[in-house]
Amino acid sequence: MQIKNQHLSDVYESLAARSAGEPEFLQAVAEVFESLSPVADARPDYIKAGIFSRIVEPERFIQFRVSWVDDEGNVRVNRGYRVQFNSAIGPYKGGLRLHPSVSASVIKFLGFEQVFKNSLTTLPMGGGKGGSDFDPKGKSEGEIMRFCQSFMTELYRHIGPDTDVPAGDIGVGGREIGYMFGQYKRLTNRFEGVLTGKAIPSGGSLVRTQATGYGLLYFTDEMLRDRGMSVDGKTIVISGSGNVAIYACEKAQEMGGKVVAMSDSNGYVYDKDGIKLDVVKQIKEVERLRIKEYAARVPGSVYTEGCRGIWSIPCDIALPCATQNELNGDEAATLVKNGCRAVAEGANMPSTPEAVECFLANNIAYAPAKASNAGGVATSGLEMVQNSIRMSWTAPEVDEKLHGIMKNIYASAKAAAAEYGMAGNLVAGANIAGFQKVADAMLWQGIAY
Ligand code: NDP
Repeated sequence: MQIKNQHLSDVYESLAARSAGEPEFLQAVAEVFESLSPVADARPDYIKAGIFSRIVEPERFIQFRVSWVDDEGNVRVNRGYRVQFNSAIGPYKGGLRLHPSVSASVIKFLGFEQVFKNSLTTLPMGGGKGGSDFDPKGKSEGEIMRFCQSFMTELYRHIGPDTDVPAGDIGVGGREIGYMFGQYKRLTNRFEGVLTGKAIPSGGSLVRTQATGYGLLYFTDEMLRDRGMSVDGKTIVISGSGNVAIYACEKAQEMGGKVVAMSDSNGYVYDKDGIKLDVVKQIKEVERLRIKEYAARVPGSVYTEGCRGIWSIPCDIALPCATQNELNGDEAATLVKNGCRAVAEGANMPSTPEAVECFLANNIAYAPAKASNAGGVATSGLEMVQNSIRMSWTAPEVDEKLHGIMKNIYASAKAAAAEYGMAGNLVAGANIAGFQKVADAMLWQGIAY
């Protein structure tokens, strides 16, 4: 890790001393601070106002018990979280994750990243994140519903359309948002835009389901065009087969790309003729089965046990769309050796710091998550606008706005990198562009929290 500015380095060391057992959170802060060194050099007023020390401390961190009863009548207890990280530019906004790996560290890393990502969208949204270590895998419909209701029975008192507006993330799709929304309405007697990712008849936005994946491809195409390339005709590998991966695949195919592999946490499938997305959707969205099933249904495709081997498949473009730290330095080197020219992150922090270093050192077109996967939260922001004005836009209207926002994010990340002498480095550019707006708002609002 290389935080060049002394003040930033001191703030990081002090945070690290107070955050034992929070490696993902510290990894995210270190990455952002590396990029912000030139900003700290140029802006002593930020240092004087304690902006950097304040921005790494969440405004509020809520942890709570979630108890529920399983189908056999046993009482089960999980841990629920919501971090309300920064509200300088708008109400807290960010997803809820249900996965056994969820911890305070994971929620804080995601909430911290969300602050800058939301700022990049140009919409007025602060940063938050939440979730639970509940594992939805293997649970019945009734168990999922009872868990979501119990989770909301505590969360509802901390959120609201002008306070904090959660959305989905890993393990939380339309079904779970529906159960949570129903419980919120029951408890408060209010029908309001308190969650995004809602079903269309309940105030959801068209294109929200597709938004993160579509936005990722809009960003990727923009980045490639700047280098005289495009998605058209490229061979693409996508990790994961959840919400982000499926709609990244859909848009990549629409743009003329050939997606040859997808995965889940057990393994990956390779289809040299191009992934049949209707089969993946049937397996994952309808039947909720494992990706292995794809090989049983599509002749000529091959399943390999173990998800990490996916990065050994030669491709022009790699789109990690599964989870954090799913692509390490060695795997990045293999991608480069096999001729990969672009990596764009659909998942949050999927590349380890060593992998990022490898991409930058080899002049790979590299799109960091907080810029390239911001399409989901941007469209959540558009859902909030539609709820506020009590109107809904058509799919082409939302898609056009999403496309414009992704182009804009690319342009601002590129410009910020160039302004601070790091032309082409979108990691630095996205961090700086996202940070500056939040820092200026904090400066303007005084030191009250
Ligand atoms: P989903 O739960 O819909 O899908 C996650 C997918 O990743 C599943 O197919 C899962 O498989 C797979 N997976 C998990 N761990 C691994 C692994 N180690 N290797 C390979 N595959 C794995 O989640 P989303 O698609 O919503 O989210 C994916 C990522 O995108 C997360 O990092 C999330 O934070 C990020 N993101 C999501 C947004 C959204 O709008 N949904 C917005 C912005 C970011 P399995 O079924 O085996 O667990």
